Amino acid sequence: MKSLASLKLILISLITALVIVGLGISLQLMLRPPNSPQVPATVPTPPPVISASPIVPTPITPDLPPVLPPRPLTPQPPQIQSNSEIPPVVTPSPPPALPQIPTQIVSLYGHLPYQEDEPQRLVQVGSYYNRIEYLDIEAAEAFNRMKLDAKTNGISLKLISGFRSIADQEQLFTKQIQRRGSKEAASKLSAPPGYSEHHTGYAIDIGDEQQPNTDLKFEFEDTETYRWLTAYAGNYGFELSFPRNNFQKVSFEPWHWRYVASPRSQQIFATARSFLH
Ligand SMILES: [Zn+2]
Repeated sequence: MKSLASLKLILISLITALVIVGLGISLQLMLRPPNSPQVPATVPTPPPVISASPIVPTPITPDLPPVLPPRPLTPQPPQIQSNSEIPPVVTPSPPPALPQIPTQIVSLYGHLPYQEDEPQRLVQVGSYYNRIEYLDIEAAEAFNRMKLDAKTNGISLKLISGFRSIADQEQLFTKQIQRRGSKEAASKLSAPPGYSEHHTGYAIDIGDEQQPNTDLKFEFEDTETYRWLTAYAGNYGFELSFPRNNFQKVSFEPWHWRYVASPRSQQIFATARSFLH
């Protein structure tokens, strides 16, 4: 009897043990799902990559390498860029600077080379006897304003000479050579063709309307008009090109003024003005 009872006991304990183990397993299974979602998550993620290929394991790895090739492609473009960077360095941007060639700045008897103003920039400002006078639009506007203001001060400004072509300057210079006897002597009073500030359209010879006898003469220095100009012309952007004892060693010209108040004119006269300062 005892052995039978003990056998029952063993059986019961075995069953309970099995039940406990079973419960434990089921509990583990119940607990896993929440903890293991990471595992299933990793499993579903690959599919999108594999989406194209139904074969799960093998396609994944072959798919990865094709993703790598694009990387080598990106390093290649930088090489192309570096190549494209080289040309810009080579691109001779100096060419535009060529027109300004400082080496061209070789003075002739103290006169500096100048180019003729662009015809479309020239505007008629007045006339001197039968000759119509033109100035660059910038100088023309400034001169007209100055002339009006001078009038209110009882000063009558007269434009004697404005723009002059190289051909016209050639005629003038030739006459001057005939009078003075040599190019060098002529250059003291007149610029050789290609070297006159009048070519620029920014230079003007100013006279006194009331005293025509002082036109282009040193006596102009003694007129009220000249005194007014020395005091106020600067307000309108004009300065005397050849003051007494100028560094270009061109003779004193109290009647010859140049407009230097715009970037364009300042660039044109940059070299000449460097002699003054
Ligand atoms: Zn002049």
